[in-house]
Amino acid sequence: MLPKFSRVLLKLSGESLMGDRHYGIDPKMLEQYANEIKQVTNVGVQVAVVIGGGNIYRGMNEHETGIERAQGDYMGMLATVINGMALQAALDKAGVSTRLQSAIKMEQVAEPYIRRRAMRHLEKGRVVIFGAGTGNPYFTTDTAGSLRAIEIKADVILKGTRVDGIYSADPEKTLLQPVTKHCHSTR
Ligand code: UDP
Repeated sequence: MLPKFSRVLLKLSGESLMGDRHYGIDPKMLEQYANEIKQVTNVGVQVAVVIGGGNIYRGMNEHETGIERAQGDYMGMLATVINGMALQAALDKAGVSTRLQSAIKMEQVAEPYIRRRAMRHLEKGRVVIFGAGTGNPYFTTDTAGSLRAIEIKADVILKGTRVDGIYSADPEKTLLQPVTKHCHSTR
């Protein structure tokens, strides 16, 4: 049977990497995601991943941290790169070819985000992990997920997270209605 989608954008929240932990990365979760991604690529589906950073740092809480919002947001974006590197390592271990692209330049560990280059990688069957969100403070990696999905012409956004939709703020802190529920097609 032919796969339903040829190119997918998977949004993984940082918290989805925590497993039962309260902070950081559970290697078992990384292994699980890497194996699931491998299965999808094995049937010919192109996979791009936008990864969050909430398991390490959320920049939005100026009152709690005393760190101004934009500075904290950049710290949050760096956290997403740490997660991206961890996922890349797990995918490497599973024998999946990957590229990590960052919206904030850090040449020693990631390619800069270049849309056309990302699309070439996908066409060659490489999993492309997008780190550092949109590269701009005052946004979230959900926004980055939607943006990158549209840019790379993904057929669908799939969301692996602890909450049930795409929100405009942290739903684990405030009672909010999702902007969109579950998967939504970018077409
Ligand atoms: N962030 C940002 N701009 C972006 C993406 C992320 O400033 O384009 C910062 C923001 O502080 C956010 C943190 O990075 O709290 C981690 O991202 P997010 O909360 O979306 O991660 P997730 O909830 O998916 O783990």
